[in-house]
Amino acid sequence: MLTQDNLLIEKQYNNKIIKSKIIEVIEMIDTHIHADARTGEDFNEMYLSGIDVAVTCAYYPYKIDNDTILLNHLMRILNYDTKRADEHGIDLKVALGIHPTNTNVDGKLIYENLYKWIENKDIVAIGEIGLENLTEKEYEIFKKQLDIAQETKTNVIIHTPRKNKSAVLDEILKILPQHISPEYVVIDHINSNVVEKVIDTDYTLGLTVQPQKMDKLEAIDILDNYGFDKFLLNSDISNKPSDPLSVPKTIRELTRLGFNKKEINKIAFKNAEKFFNF
Ligand SMILES: [Zn+2]
Repeated sequence: MLTQDNLLIEKQYNNKIIKSKIIEVIEMIDTHIHADARTGEDFNEMYLSGIDVAVTCAYYPYKIDNDTILLNHLMRILNYDTKRADEHGIDLKVALGIHPTNTNVDGKLIYENLYKWIENKDIVAIGEIGLENLTEKEYEIFKKQLDIAQETKTNVIIHTPRKNKSAVLDEILKILPQHISPEYVVIDHINSNVVEKVIDTDYTLGLTVQPQKMDKLEAIDILDNYGFDKFLLNSDISNKPSDPLSVPKTIRELTRLGFNKKEINKIAFKNAEKFFNF
Protein backbone atom coordinates (compact mmCIF):
# COMPACT_ATOMS: atom_id res chain seq x y z
CA MET A 1 0.00 0.00 0.00
CA LEU A 2 1.50 3.32 -1.03
CA THR A 3 0.08 6.68 -0.13
CA GLN A 4 1.46 9.99 -1.14
CA ASP A 5 1.01 13.23 0.69
CA ASN A 6 3.02 16.05 -0.81
CA LEU A 7 6.41 14.44 -1.15
CA LEU A 8 6.08 12.06 1.76
CA ILE A 9 5.85 8.42 0.75
CA GLU A 10 4.42 5.98 3.24
CA LYS A 11 4.89 2.28 2.57
CA GLN A 12 4.03 -0.78 4.55
CA TYR A 13 6.55 -3.62 4.50
CA ASN A 14 6.43 -6.66 6.80
CA ASN A 15 3.89 -4.82 9.00
CA LYS A 16 6.30 -1.93 9.41
CA ILE A 17 5.46 1.56 8.16
CA ILE A 18 8.28 3.12 6.20
CA LYS A 19 8.12 6.86 5.69
CA SER A 20 10.43 8.58 3.29
CA LYS A 21 10.68 11.95 1.63
CA ILE A 22 11.19 12.03 -2.08
CA ILE A 23 12.74 15.09 -3.60
CA GLU A 24 11.19 14.63 -7.00
CA VAL A 25 9.09 11.84 -8.40
CA ILE A 26 7.53 11.40 -11.80
CA GLU A 27 4.80 8.82 -11.69
CA MET A 28 3.57 7.37 -14.94
CA ILE A 29 0.29 6.07 -16.31
CA ASP A 30 0.16 4.13 -19.58
CA THR A 31 -3.34 5.16 -20.67
CA HIS A 32 -4.02 2.49 -23.32
CA ILE A 33 -2.70 -1.06 -23.36
CA HIS A 34 -4.02 -4.54 -24.17
CA ALA A 35 -2.91 -6.49 -21.10
CA ASP A 36 -4.53 -9.74 -22.27
CA ALA A 37 -2.03 -9.95 -25.16
CA ARG A 38 1.09 -9.37 -23.01
CA THR A 39 3.23 -11.31 -20.55
CA GLY A 40 4.00 -10.83 -16.86
CA GLU A 41 7.58 -10.01 -17.92
CA ASP A 42 6.24 -6.95 -19.77
CA PHE A 43 4.33 -5.78 -16.68
CA ASN A 44 7.45 -6.29 -14.59
CA GLU A 45 9.57 -4.18 -16.94
CA MET A 46 6.91 -1.47 -17.05
CA TYR A 47 6.74 -1.36 -13.27
CA LEU A 48 10.53 -1.22 -12.91
CA SER A 49 10.59 1.64 -15.42
CA GLY A 50 8.23 3.73 -13.29
CA ILE A 51 4.73 2.88 -14.53
CA ASP A 52 2.32 2.60 -11.59
CA VAL A 53 -1.01 2.50 -13.40
CA ALA A 54 -2.16 1.28 -16.81
CA VAL A 55 -5.54 1.30 -18.52
CA THR A 56 -6.27 -1.87 -20.46
CA CYS A 57 -8.77 -1.75 -23.34
CA ALA A 58 -10.92 -4.38 -25.00
CA TYR A 59 -9.96 -5.81 -28.37
CA TYR A 60 -10.47 -9.40 -29.47
CA PRO A 61 -7.75 -10.13 -32.04
CA TYR A 62 -9.68 -12.80 -34.01
CA LYS A 63 -12.81 -12.71 -36.14
CA ILE A 64 -15.76 -13.17 -33.82
CA ASP A 65 -19.52 -13.41 -34.35
CA ASN A 66 -20.60 -14.73 -30.98
CA ASP A 67 -21.55 -12.44 -28.09
CA THR A 68 -20.88 -15.05 -25.39
CA ILE A 69 -17.29 -15.55 -26.57
CA LEU A 70 -16.76 -11.80 -26.59
CA LEU A 71 -18.26 -11.54 -23.11
CA ASN A 72 -15.92 -14.30 -21.87
CA HIS A 73 -12.99 -12.37 -23.32
CA LEU A 74 -14.07 -9.18 -21.53
CA MET A 75 -14.57 -11.06 -18.25
CA ARG A 76 -11.08 -12.49 -18.58
CA ILE A 77 -9.63 -8.97 -18.79
CA LEU A 78 -11.65 -7.84 -15.78
CA ASN A 79 -11.08 -10.80 -13.50
CA TYR A 80 -7.77 -12.32 -14.58
CA ASP A 81 -5.52 -9.76 -16.27
CA THR A 82 -6.01 -7.27 -13.43
CA LYS A 83 -4.64 -9.88 -11.01
CA ARG A 84 -1.72 -10.76 -13.30
CA ALA A 85 -0.72 -7.11 -13.59
CA ASP A 86 -1.13 -6.55 -9.87
CA GLU A 87 1.31 -9.40 -9.15
CA HIS A 88 3.94 -7.30 -10.93
CA GLY A 89 3.05 -4.01 -9.25
CA ILE A 90 0.85 -2.50 -11.96
CA ASP A 91 -2.52 -1.13 -10.89
CA LEU A 92 -4.52 -2.16 -13.95
CA LYS A 93 -7.66 -0.14 -14.63
CA VAL A 94 -10.12 -1.59 -17.11
CA ALA A 95 -12.01 -0.21 -20.11
CA LEU A 96 -14.46 -2.62 -21.76
CA GLY A 97 -16.67 -2.40 -24.81
CA ILE A 98 -17.02 -3.57 -28.39
CA HIS A 99 -13.96 -2.68 -30.51
CA PRO A 100 -14.88 -1.58 -34.07
CA THR A 101 -13.19 -4.69 -35.53
CA ASN A 102 -15.35 -6.91 -33.28
CA THR A 103 -18.71 -5.53 -34.44
CA ASN A 104 -19.85 -8.75 -36.12
CA VAL A 105 -21.88 -9.48 -32.97
CA ASP A 106 -25.38 -8.66 -31.87
CA GLY A 107 -24.22 -6.50 -28.96
CA LYS A 108 -27.16 -6.75 -26.53
CA LEU A 109 -25.43 -9.09 -24.09
CA ILE A 110 -22.43 -6.75 -23.94
CA TYR A 111 -24.59 -3.63 -23.44
CA GLU A 112 -26.39 -5.30 -20.49
CA ASN A 113 -23.05 -6.10 -18.91
CA LEU A 114 -21.68 -2.60 -19.57
CA TYR A 115 -24.48 -1.15 -17.44
CA LYS A 116 -23.62 -3.63 -14.68
CA TRP A 117 -19.87 -2.97 -14.79
CA ILE A 118 -20.46 0.78 -14.76
CA GLU A 119 -22.80 0.54 -11.79
CA ASN A 120 -20.32 -1.65 -9.88
CA LYS A 121 -17.47 0.72 -10.79
CA ASP A 122 -15.60 -2.23 -12.36
CA ILE A 123 -14.56 -0.17 -15.37
CA VAL A 124 -13.12 3.33 -15.80
CA ALA A 125 -14.30 3.75 -19.39
CA ILE A 126 -16.13 2.15 -22.30
CA GLY A 127 -13.40 1.29 -24.78
CA GLU A 128 -11.89 1.06 -27.00
CA ILE A 129 -14.74 1.84 -29.35
CA GLY A 130 -14.92 3.70 -32.64
CA LEU A 131 -14.88 3.11 -36.35
CA GLU A 132 -12.48 1.15 -38.56
CA ASN A 133 -13.94 0.18 -41.97
CA LEU A 134 -17.08 2.35 -41.76
CA THR A 135 -19.53 -0.56 -42.02
CA GLU A 136 -23.15 -0.04 -41.04
CA LYS A 137 -22.76 -2.34 -38.03
CA GLU A 138 -19.75 -0.34 -36.80
CA TYR A 139 -21.79 2.88 -36.84
CA GLU A 140 -24.70 1.23 -35.03
CA ILE A 141 -22.57 -0.31 -32.25
CA PHE A 142 -20.40 2.81 -31.87
CA LYS A 143 -23.43 5.10 -31.45
CA LYS A 144 -25.14 2.73 -29.02
CA GLN A 145 -22.03 2.65 -26.80
CA LEU A 146 -21.73 6.45 -26.91
CA ASP A 147 -25.37 6.68 -25.78
CA ILE A 148 -24.72 4.30 -22.87
CA ALA A 149 -21.68 6.40 -21.89
CA GLN A 150 -23.63 9.66 -21.97
CA GLU A 151 -26.57 8.15 -20.05
CA THR A 152 -24.29 6.77 -17.33
CA LYS A 153 -21.78 9.67 -17.37
CA THR A 154 -18.96 7.29 -18.28
CA ASN A 155 -15.74 8.05 -20.17
CA VAL A 156 -15.09 6.59 -23.60
CA ILE A 157 -11.76 5.72 -25.24
CA ILE A 158 -12.14 6.20 -28.98
CA HIS A 159 -9.95 4.32 -31.45
CA THR A 160 -8.89 5.85 -34.75
CA PRO A 161 -7.52 3.40 -37.32
CA ARG A 162 -4.04 3.14 -38.82
CA LYS A 163 -5.42 3.15 -42.37
CA ASN A 164 -7.65 5.95 -43.58
CA LYS A 165 -7.24 7.75 -40.23
CA SER A 166 -8.14 11.21 -41.44
CA ALA A 167 -11.41 10.24 -43.19
CA VAL A 168 -12.52 7.99 -40.32
CA LEU A 169 -11.71 10.71 -37.79
CA ASP A 170 -13.95 13.09 -39.80
CA GLU A 171 -16.80 10.59 -39.44
CA ILE A 172 -16.18 10.24 -35.70
CA LEU A 173 -16.16 14.03 -35.28
CA LYS A 174 -19.53 14.21 -37.06
CA ILE A 175 -21.10 11.58 -34.79
CA LEU A 176 -19.75 12.62 -31.36
CA PRO A 177 -21.67 15.91 -30.87
CA GLN A 178 -25.00 14.11 -31.47
CA HIS A 179 -24.32 11.53 -28.74
CA ILE A 180 -21.92 12.61 -25.99
CA SER A 181 -20.42 15.60 -24.16
CA PRO A 182 -16.72 16.22 -24.90
CA GLU A 183 -15.70 15.95 -21.23
CA TYR A 184 -16.20 12.15 -21.39
CA VAL A 185 -14.19 11.59 -24.56
CA VAL A 186 -10.59 10.76 -25.35
CA ILE A 187 -9.85 10.39 -29.07
CA ASP A 188 -6.83 8.13 -29.29
CA HIS A 189 -3.94 7.47 -31.68
CA ILE A 190 -3.76 11.10 -32.81
CA ASN A 191 -0.68 11.82 -34.93
CA SER A 192 0.86 14.86 -36.60
CA ASN A 193 -1.20 14.30 -39.78
CA VAL A 194 -4.53 14.78 -38.01
CA VAL A 195 -3.76 16.80 -34.87
CA GLU A 196 -4.92 20.05 -36.49
CA LYS A 197 -8.44 18.60 -36.92
CA VAL A 198 -8.90 18.11 -33.17
CA ILE A 199 -6.60 20.48 -31.33
CA ASP A 200 -9.25 23.21 -31.00
CA THR A 201 -12.01 20.82 -29.85
CA ASP A 202 -12.82 20.11 -26.19
CA TYR A 203 -11.91 16.42 -26.49
CA THR A 204 -8.96 14.91 -24.67
CA LEU A 205 -6.43 13.51 -27.16
CA GLY A 206 -4.35 10.33 -26.94
CA LEU A 207 -0.80 9.99 -28.27
CA THR A 208 0.28 6.41 -28.97
CA VAL A 209 4.00 5.74 -29.20
CA GLN A 210 4.23 2.35 -30.89
CA PRO A 211 6.38 0.83 -33.65
CA GLN A 212 4.62 1.32 -37.04
CA LYS A 213 2.36 4.01 -35.53
CA MET A 214 4.34 6.91 -34.09
CA ASP A 215 7.84 7.26 -32.60
CA LYS A 216 8.62 9.21 -29.45
CA LEU A 217 10.13 12.13 -31.36
CA GLU A 218 6.90 12.72 -33.30
CA ALA A 219 4.96 12.66 -30.02
CA ILE A 220 7.42 15.11 -28.46
CA ASP A 221 7.12 17.36 -31.50
CA ILE A 222 3.32 17.44 -31.11
CA LEU A 223 3.64 18.30 -27.38
CA ASP A 224 6.19 21.00 -28.16
CA ASN A 225 3.92 22.55 -30.80
CA TYR A 226 0.51 22.22 -29.13
CA GLY A 227 1.28 22.16 -25.40
CA PHE A 228 0.85 19.41 -22.80
CA ASP A 229 -2.64 20.19 -21.49
CA LYS A 230 -4.89 18.20 -23.83
CA PHE A 231 -2.92 14.98 -24.22
CA LEU A 232 -2.64 11.52 -22.68
CA LEU A 233 0.27 9.18 -23.47
CA ASN A 234 0.20 5.44 -24.14
CA SER A 235 1.95 2.43 -25.70
CA ASP A 236 -1.10 0.49 -27.01
CA ILE A 237 0.92 -2.71 -26.43
CA SER A 238 -1.03 -5.52 -28.07
CA ASN A 239 -0.48 -8.57 -30.27
CA LYS A 240 0.98 -6.20 -32.90
CA PRO A 241 4.60 -4.94 -32.76
CA SER A 242 4.79 -3.01 -29.49
CA ASP A 243 7.15 -1.48 -26.94
CA PRO A 244 6.00 -1.89 -23.31
CA LEU A 245 8.43 0.88 -22.33
CA SER A 246 7.38 3.50 -24.87
CA VAL A 247 5.77 5.71 -22.20
CA PRO A 248 8.82 5.82 -19.87
CA LYS A 249 11.13 6.22 -22.89
CA THR A 250 9.12 9.25 -24.09
CA ILE A 251 8.98 10.75 -20.59
CA ARG A 252 12.72 10.26 -20.04
CA GLU A 253 13.46 11.77 -23.46
CA LEU A 254 11.37 14.84 -22.56
CA THR A 255 13.37 15.09 -19.32
CA ARG A 256 16.68 14.67 -21.12
CA LEU A 257 15.73 17.37 -23.63
CA GLY A 258 15.07 19.77 -20.75
CA PHE A 259 11.29 20.21 -20.95
CA ASN A 260 9.65 21.74 -17.88
CA LYS A 261 9.06 19.07 -15.19
CA LYS A 262 5.61 20.40 -14.37
CA GLU A 263 4.60 20.04 -18.02
CA ILE A 264 6.11 16.54 -18.24
CA ASN A 265 4.13 15.55 -15.17
CA LYS A 266 0.91 16.46 -16.97
CA ILE A 267 1.54 14.01 -19.80
CA ALA A 268 3.11 11.39 -17.52
CA PHE A 269 0.33 11.27 -14.92
CA LYS A 270 -1.72 14.34 -14.07
CA ASN A 271 -3.88 14.63 -17.21
CA ALA A 272 -4.84 10.95 -17.03
CA GLU A 273 -5.47 11.13 -13.29
CA LYS A 274 -7.83 14.02 -13.90
CA PHE A 275 -9.58 12.59 -16.97
CA PHE A 276 -10.18 9.14 -15.48
CA ASN A 277 -10.77 10.53 -11.99
CA PHE A 278 -8.33 8.07 -10.34
ZN1 LIG B 1 -5.81 -0.34 -28.63
